[in-house]
Amino acid sequence: MSQPVHTTDVLIVGAGLSGVGAACQLRQECPDKSVMVLEARDSIGGTWDLFRYPGIRSDSDMFTLGYRFSPWTDPKAIADGPSILRYIHDTAKTFGVDKLIRLNHRVVNANWDSAEARWTVEVHRTDTDELFAVSCSFLYVCTGYYRYDEGFSPQFPGVDCFQGPVIHPQHWPEDLDYRDKRVVVIGSGATAVTLVPSLAESAAHVTMLQRSPTYVASRPASDAIADRLRAWLPTKLAYAIVRWKNALQAIAIFNLSRRRPEMMKSMLRKAAIKQLPDGYAVDTHFKPSYNPWDQRMCLIPDGDLFTAVRDGRASVVTDQIDTFTETGIRLKSGDELAADIVVSATGLNLLAIGGMQLEVDGSVVDLSKTVSYKGMMLSGVPNFAWTIGYTNASWTLKADLVAEYVCRLLKHMDAKGYAAVTPDAAGTTAANPFLDLASGYVTRSLAELPKQGDRAPWRLHQNYVKDVRLLRRGPIDDDVVFTPAVAADRARSIA
Ligand SMILES: Cc1cc2nc3c(=O)[nH]c(=O)nc-3n(C[C@H](O)[C@H](O)[C@H](O)COP(=O)(O)OP(=O)(O)OC[C@H]3O[C@@H](n4cnc5c(N)ncnc54)[C@H](O)[C@@H]3O)c2cc1C
Repeated sequence: MSQPVHTTDVLIVGAGLSGVGAACQLRQECPDKSVMVLEARDSIGGTWDLFRYPGIRSDSDMFTLGYRFSPWTDPKAIADGPSILRYIHDTAKTFGVDKLIRLNHRVVNANWDSAEARWTVEVHRTDTDELFAVSCSFLYVCTGYYRYDEGFSPQFPGVDCFQGPVIHPQHWPEDLDYRDKRVVVIGSGATAVTLVPSLAESAAHVTMLQRSPTYVASRPASDAIADRLRAWLPTKLAYAIVRWKNALQAIAIFNLSRRRPEMMKSMLRKAAIKQLPDGYAVDTHFKPSYNPWDQRMCLIPDGDLFTAVRDGRASVVTDQIDTFTETGIRLKSGDELAADIVVSATGLNLLAIGGMQLEVDGSVVDLSKTVSYKGMMLSGVPNFAWTIGYTNASWTLKADLVAEYVCRLLKHMDAKGYAAVTPDAAGTTAANPFLDLASGYVTRSLAELPKQGDRAPWRLHQNYVKDVRLLRRGPIDDDVVFTPAVAADRARSIA
């Protein structure tokens, strides 16, 4: 690798929601540290810049998807993609983080040198094709969880003979005209349930074709309690209260789903029946074979999907594809779906740590052999943090806590004169997969991901309250080895 041309204390990889939030907290909490943010794309915002399909929106509320330190003030609780992107840009500007970000910089490799107690990070400039190196003492990876270049697209039989376009929502063509067209959306996840009512506003008809149903729950697009509190209380206080309310509500719903699945199933079924037409085959199209929250639940604002079905603008078909034809899709049942456009909302391809290769003293780190420490560091990998948000609540609740922990850790190391910190998994057994979700995009990639251990701090909580205790208030020196700066200096002089 070439000699580093830039040096920084903390290098953040990725300028999406997590990377921008991490940089803001570092600016606030560790103003003496130099911070650089490298972003592979030509703009910031990550997910909220990449996805441009009609109706793109959050499916969690913005009081928990927003940062703890930057109140979400828009009246919408479930927000559209452009509003979320604007919020990320505004926050970056307010905290002076926009100046720290370098666009078109893809990190491809990072090697930890124990003698130097530093990372050398190899960077590819996607605009000029240059390769160069950056040296940092702490590497903080905020690269999200999926591949940006391509979504998951199964090979559908006969797809080549279909006369119309087949679109993946990750690459939505700006000029796609779907007005008065018959559209089939393949899939039943968050993207499909977002797209269907939105396309149905101007398409001739939209059919959601799913192999099997998903749990779909309606929730108000605005938050009445939040609106009232915001009218009475100072912005920051109202935001903090609503954030906690919604975080606790999400935990309660998740726990109830896990402990009393039958009760939750019955509640969801009754709510769907109420919003669908009389006599609708709710058990065929909205009754999954798994329990609520075994896979991510789909939230729809103000029941918009159910309304589109009720109005006859959209329909749901639960069947399997036999083959594409010139004019649509033939199903295993023998039925045919006529289509002018097909949208393959079939999901994402998981990608850990943005596809970078990690090395420690020249040896490649096999992620699947590492154990995740507090859901944010890796066993045997020094001065490294990685943000993976919750799968059962808003991503940012966890991302914010990870950033808080990194700031605490850096301050602790400075106060004690430590150059390096390495999680040591000697006392735990790698017992469980990293993510406890049966969704396709998770199960397809579990083998490549780190494991979680059988006890704290190696077990993932997926629970905000427990993580506040662990990451905001818990000890900082449990199951880690600190290397004093003097030891690193000595090793450097011997080397
Ligand atoms: C359509 C969609 C809707 C979603 N809705 C919700 C929701 O409502 N609630 C929720 O909690 N979660 C949701 N999620 C999950 C969502 O990804 C997170 O909420 C959040 O946006 C993740 O932010 P991030 O910054 O961690 O990752 P991302 O948004 O993925 O950003 C990662 C950034 O890192 C950059 N990057 C990646 N690799 C490299 C590299 N090697 N070098 C340099 N830069 C790199 C990328 O270009 C990108 O800009 C949704 C996801 C999708 C796809």
